[in-house]
Amino acid sequence: MNKKYLYINTIGCQMNVYDSEQMIRCLKPLGYEISQSIEAADLIIVNTCAIREKAEHKAYSFLGRLPGLKRKNPDLIICVGGCVAQQEGRMILGRIPYVDLVFGTHALNRLSEHIRNISLKRCRIADVEMTREIMEFSSSGVPAACDEVSKFVTIMRGCDNYCTYCVVPHVRGPEISRRPESVIEEIRELVGSGVQEVTLLGQNVNSYGIKEGLCSFPELLKLVNEIEGLFRIRFTTSHPKDLSEDLIAAFAGLEKLCSHIHLPVQSGSNSVLKRMNRKYTRELYLEKIDRLRKISPDIAITSDVIVGFPGETEDDFKATLDLVKEVEFDSLFTFGYSDRKNAPAARFPDKIPDNVKNERLRELLELQEYYTLKKNSALVGSTELILVEGFSKKQDFQGEQEGFTCVHWTGRTSTNKIVNFVDENSLSGDSTLIGKRIEVKIEKAFSHSLLGKPVDSKPMPVGVIGEESYAA
Ligand code: SAM
Ligand code: SF4
Repeated sequence: MNKKYLYINTIGCQMNVYDSEQMIRCLKPLGYEISQSIEAADLIIVNTCAIREKAEHKAYSFLGRLPGLKRKNPDLIICVGGCVAQQEGRMILGRIPYVDLVFGTHALNRLSEHIRNISLKRCRIADVEMTREIMEFSSSGVPAACDEVSKFVTIMRGCDNYCTYCVVPHVRGPEISRRPESVIEEIRELVGSGVQEVTLLGQNVNSYGIKEGLCSFPELLKLVNEIEGLFRIRFTTSHPKDLSEDLIAAFAGLEKLCSHIHLPVQSGSNSVLKRMNRKYTRELYLEKIDRLRKISPDIAITSDVIVGFPGETEDDFKATLDLVKEVEFDSLFTFGYSDRKNAPAARFPDKIPDNVKNERLRELLELQEYYTLKKNSALVGSTELILVEGFSKKQDFQGEQEGFTCVHWTGRTSTNKIVNFVDENSLSGDSTLIGKRIEVKIEKAFSHSLLGKPVDSKPMPVGVIGEESYAA
């Protein structure tokens, strides 16, 4: 079979990263191999995100760069997948004449069939059909690359929550969970190919399995925790309204579960939360934070906040700032509200002007920066157990450390903080620390990372720690 090259541009969340990996898997039997060069590609896929206007623009601007490549190589196949594909469907084929395939979020397992047809017949296809079945892929075939330490595993798709600002239920469909056996099998295979950490993905992992009568999410975590050779478990996202006592207890009971929860609050104002259809109050949210910190005092808590939701008053925004001060998040993802087609809030009155939104964003970011640095600085002098993921990005250090000549490694703490460090033994570049578990003494804190030195130049052997010396 002739070797063919596939270039994928993945825009958006971790779920899209996972879906892109499934696309690579599906296309492997057709002879496609991933390429980092767009010019060399025989097949280009843009896996799109519709969550905010900005992400949608990014997809169209990428597509705008492609007609030259198609002119040079008329056999080139150009595909649009993901949430924008689901939302716009056939309209994309009408608007962009050089696109060959539009495939929605439920068409992933029909991708190879469509590519085969396009190659043979040079037809154009739009497939945005939604199904009630969860897509299960055979997990055999493409193991994780040898230097991949951490992987995403989607455990459920879609969402039933219908937050009024959000497009996800409209483009990903109703919530549906994968069978636990299938999730466990996939993780076992990943571990077999060297993966040590998995992040379980779902729009609201707390409701995993409920509709289908499968096991609960805390029960699934217990099963994952038993997988031999796996070092760390993370998950995202947890909806505050459904964060159960059992899940909170898992932070104390499961040694592989990392000490970090991403718990999106969206707003600190009860009136905004109500109009967002979030189904919890500020008070309930704070109560859950309290419970988490009682069970796991060092747990890192991160969140998402939307500013400038329609009708958000100065008092509403102040309530958000107050909540941020009260919780002291480890870090925060902040978003300016963006109207989304199909999402009810697009039709809400009292839209907030961009200049007000931007000013509120700036104020919120400045406040959070203070707490992020405060949390990071508190770790200076401590020793943290790091799972090494690879080389750090040089720019993190520029101007902050003189004489940047040696190898800098990067990894994460259980609390999901990035730690960069130098290992004297790997200066010559002849040994790799990727996948090693190393204790690092933290010497400096920045707003997005920490800098330290390994306490012992010998990395801890894989499999020795994790069970006892490391407790999340
Ligand atoms: N399922 C997760 C939850 O319930 O929190 C969130 C998933 S969404 C992919 C990630 C974040 O995007 C949301 O938490 C929200 O803060 C932000 N977001 C979603 N829709 C948005 C919109 N229309 N405008 C601005 N931000 C939005
Ligand atoms: Fe969107 Fe709300 Fe579902 Fe999260 S829970 S994906 S914000 S509708």
